[in-house]
Amino acid sequence: MQKHSVDVAILGAGTAGLAAYRAAIAKTPNVVLIDGGPLGTTCARVGCMPSKLLIAAAEAAFHSRHSAVFGVQNLQTLVDGKAVMARVQAERDRFVGFVLRSMNEIPAEHKITAYAQFLDNHHLLLDNGDQIEAKSIVIATGSHPFIPAIFHGVGSRLLTNENLFDLPDLPKKMAVFGPGVIGLELGQALHRLGVDVKVFGVSGSFAVIKDPKIKDYALTQFSSEFYLDIHTKILSVTEHSEGVIIEHRNLQGDFVAESFEYLLVATGRRANVNKLALANTNLELNHSGIPIFNEFTLQCGNSNIFIAGDANHEKPLLHEAADEGKIAGNNAAVFPNIKLHKRRAALGIVFTDPQIAQVGMNLDQVKHQHGSCFAVGEVSFEDQGRSRVMAVNKGLLRIYAEQGTGVFLGAEMMGPGAEHMGHLLSWAAQQKMTIAQMLEMPFYHPVIEEGIRTALRDANAKLRIGSVNDCSDAFVVVDS
Ligand SMILES: Cc1cc2nc3c(=O)[nH]c(=O)nc-3n(C[C@H](O)[C@H](O)[C@H](O)COP(=O)(O)OP(=O)(O)OC[C@H]3O[C@@H](n4cnc5c(N)ncnc54)[C@H](O)[C@@H]3O)c2cc1C
Repeated sequence: MQKHSVDVAILGAGTAGLAAYRAAIAKTPNVVLIDGGPLGTTCARVGCMPSKLLIAAAEAAFHSRHSAVFGVQNLQTLVDGKAVMARVQAERDRFVGFVLRSMNEIPAEHKITAYAQFLDNHHLLLDNGDQIEAKSIVIATGSHPFIPAIFHGVGSRLLTNENLFDLPDLPKKMAVFGPGVIGLELGQALHRLGVDVKVFGVSGSFAVIKDPKIKDYALTQFSSEFYLDIHTKILSVTEHSEGVIIEHRNLQGDFVAESFEYLLVATGRRANVNKLALANTNLELNHSGIPIFNEFTLQCGNSNIFIAGDANHEKPLLHEAADEGKIAGNNAAVFPNIKLHKRRAALGIVFTDPQIAQVGMNLDQVKHQHGSCFAVGEVSFEDQGRSRVMAVNKGLLRIYAEQGTGVFLGAEMMGPGAEHMGHLLSWAAQQKMTIAQMLEMPFYHPVIEEGIRTALRDANAKLRIGSVNDCSDAFVVVDS
């Protein structure tokens, strides 16, 4: 057994952990990065990148099949499942290779291949028997797929994002559980690649959409393309030699026993904190066992321990993990002289078609903070010029603005190019722009962004600009 004494120990060499390492090493040379592997980051190995590669293939298949609207006939679209998966895997491995190469540049004495758990606030036990004494510690251990108990009897026919992308060929028939971001993205992509897909949810939640109008619109769109039931009553799930039989009540309420080649379980993710022996620390934990922390310092309570990325479960997105790692690494290195760091405006994107974007405050947060003292501007993309030109005219954007000041609070949309519109809107949210200031910005013609202008004009017309305190009920215009 070896004992190491360091200024900063970082648990996890994913996106957050690597960012924490880079920030900490800039302040002190005595840093260690601990990870038992597999290395290469969730994003590159089994997350953002392979999922977007599969979606890119699905988009190619879809456009090939749907060009007739332009008078362009493509009589036969063939999807070669083996070639699709081979490209996903080759490009994924390339992305992972970049991460591994950048890790090779980290000096060997700063890296330990092991899993760690806490002995107390300053001491870690590694699964290779070594111990670390650290002045401060960053938890950046990521998250894992949550598998509900009903699926526990399923073995090799159960897929998650951890093994889906390793399939040598596309399956014929797949049940996707969880119409959240991951399930919806992958479910639609597999459907467009010719897999017979059914997407099931049980709780009624859907792709993290909070605005009921956007949710209704999106549900109608996706349901018209593939089987989607967000309130499924699942009766049983049984594996057999060829796949899995799912007994459920279908959308009409009828009993159905249906066989699928595979199950893809995308029913949420859980922070990797349960194996860290956090009970040995003095950290206060929330109901999920995650240390309570400050989002501007990433410090857990007043302790020497910081938590970043998916491990804190607050904003499980790649750019947030990178930001949080940097903040946590910085503060761990200068502890106890830590600083509050600025956070970016919220931005979330779902890579379905049409895409979904959430910017700034969502409708629940707007209502929580502003009561009914806000206006909603809206645009449908069904008659939007550029969207019609390109035959992608499906979508709805809703923009929220504060009564009294006209400050842009947030937006939710499903529509063409939402990944780009979401960025524009999030930049405006971060700049705390008013609707009037946003309308002063240039809009080219004809572009999809002209849709944003229509929604802004609608919001502007509904705004009563004056003192924020003037926002009495009689004065408010809220679009339900
Ligand atoms: C299918 C899918 C698609 C996604 N798509 C997107 C997207 O399009 N855009 C987006 O922004 N985000 C996306 N995400 C989310 C994004 O991938 C994550 O938010 C991000 O990768 C989290 O990074 P992290 O550093 O917190 O965790 P990770 O990259 O998972 O790193 C955690 C590391 O900790 C290590 N570890 C665990 N326990 C221990 C321990 N006890 N001791 C030492 N090391 C340990 C692990 O081995 C791992 O290397 C997607 C996620 C999934 C699953």
